[in-house]
Amino acid sequence: MRETVERTIKQKPFNVMLDSCIADEIVLLNEQGVRTVNSCCGHGENNPVAIIENNHNSLNNAVGLGYKHKILDILFSEIKLKSECHCLERVKK
Ligand SMILES: [Zn+2]
Ligand SMILES: [Zn+2]
Repeated sequence: MRETVERTIKQKPFNVMLDSCIADEIVLLNEQGVRTVNSCCGHGENNPVAIIENNHNSLNNAVGLGYKHKILDILFSEIKLKSECHCLERVKK
Protein backbone atom coordinates (compact mmCIF):
# COMPACT_ATOMS: atom_id res chain seq x y z
CA MET A 1 0.00 0.00 0.00
CA ARG A 2 1.41 3.35 -0.99
CA GLU A 3 0.08 6.40 0.74
CA THR A 4 1.03 9.81 -0.59
CA VAL A 5 0.15 13.33 0.42
CA GLU A 6 0.34 16.51 -1.61
CA ARG A 7 2.64 19.12 -0.06
CA THR A 8 4.08 22.44 -1.14
CA ILE A 9 7.86 22.65 -1.15
CA LYS A 10 9.62 25.98 -1.04
CA GLN A 11 12.17 25.88 -3.84
CA LYS A 12 10.01 26.86 -6.83
CA PRO A 13 7.45 26.77 -5.06
CA PHE A 14 5.34 23.97 -6.43
CA ASN A 15 3.33 21.05 -5.17
CA VAL A 16 4.68 17.54 -5.29
CA MET A 17 3.42 14.14 -4.23
CA LEU A 18 5.53 12.78 -1.37
CA ASP A 19 5.47 9.51 0.52
CA SER A 20 3.67 10.45 3.72
CA CYS A 21 6.32 8.82 5.95
CA ILE A 22 8.90 11.37 4.82
CA ALA A 23 6.77 14.34 3.68
CA ASP A 24 7.52 16.58 6.67
CA GLU A 25 11.25 15.98 6.36
CA ILE A 26 11.28 16.73 2.62
CA VAL A 27 9.38 19.99 3.16
CA LEU A 28 11.82 20.95 5.91
CA LEU A 29 14.86 20.06 3.80
CA ASN A 30 13.72 22.31 0.98
CA GLU A 31 13.03 25.13 3.45
CA GLN A 32 16.62 24.72 4.62
CA GLY A 33 18.04 24.99 1.12
CA VAL A 34 18.37 21.32 0.24
CA ARG A 35 16.81 20.93 -3.20
CA THR A 36 15.19 17.53 -3.48
CA VAL A 37 14.39 16.15 -6.92
CA ASN A 38 13.04 12.77 -5.86
CA SER A 39 12.44 10.90 -2.65
CA CYS A 40 11.07 7.62 -1.40
CA CYS A 41 10.42 6.23 2.06
CA GLY A 42 11.35 2.75 0.78
CA HIS A 43 7.95 1.30 1.71
CA GLY A 44 9.50 -1.05 4.22
CA GLU A 45 11.82 -2.58 1.63
CA ASN A 46 14.55 0.04 1.36
CA ASN A 47 15.96 2.84 3.46
CA PRO A 48 14.24 6.22 3.16
CA VAL A 49 16.33 8.28 0.73
CA ALA A 50 16.13 11.47 -1.28
CA ILE A 51 17.90 12.51 -4.46
CA ILE A 52 19.10 16.09 -4.16
CA GLU A 53 20.83 18.63 -6.38
CA ASN A 54 24.52 19.18 -5.76
CA ASN A 55 24.37 22.75 -7.03
CA HIS A 56 23.02 25.92 -5.43
CA ASN A 57 24.69 24.92 -2.15
CA SER A 58 22.11 22.16 -1.85
CA LEU A 59 24.63 19.39 -1.10
CA ASN A 60 26.60 21.62 1.27
CA ASN A 61 23.41 22.39 3.17
CA ALA A 62 22.58 18.68 3.48
CA VAL A 63 26.06 17.90 4.79
CA GLY A 64 25.74 20.81 7.21
CA LEU A 65 22.51 19.30 8.52
CA GLY A 66 24.32 16.03 9.20
CA TYR A 67 23.00 13.94 6.32
CA LYS A 68 25.01 11.00 5.03
CA HIS A 69 25.34 11.40 1.28
CA LYS A 70 26.50 9.48 -1.74
CA ILE A 71 27.45 11.45 -4.85
CA LEU A 72 25.69 9.92 -7.85
CA ASP A 73 27.02 12.13 -10.63
CA ILE A 74 27.98 15.72 -11.34
CA LEU A 75 24.43 16.96 -10.72
CA PHE A 76 22.85 14.75 -8.09
CA SER A 77 23.51 13.03 -4.79
CA GLU A 78 21.53 10.63 -2.66
CA ILE A 79 21.02 11.32 1.04
CA LYS A 80 19.80 8.97 3.73
CA LEU A 81 16.71 10.44 5.37
CA LYS A 82 16.20 10.62 9.13
CA SER A 83 12.47 9.85 9.07
CA GLU A 84 11.36 6.32 9.73
CA CYS A 85 9.09 4.48 7.32
CA HIS A 86 5.83 3.23 8.81
CA CYS A 87 4.43 1.54 5.70
CA LEU A 88 4.74 -1.99 7.07
CA GLU A 89 2.97 -1.06 10.31
CA ARG A 90 0.09 0.36 8.26
CA VAL A 91 -0.24 -2.82 6.21
CA LYS A 92 -0.49 -4.94 9.36
CA LYS A 93 -3.45 -2.94 10.72
ZN1 LIG B 1 8.02 5.79 -2.37
ZN1 LIG C 1 6.84 4.43 4.23
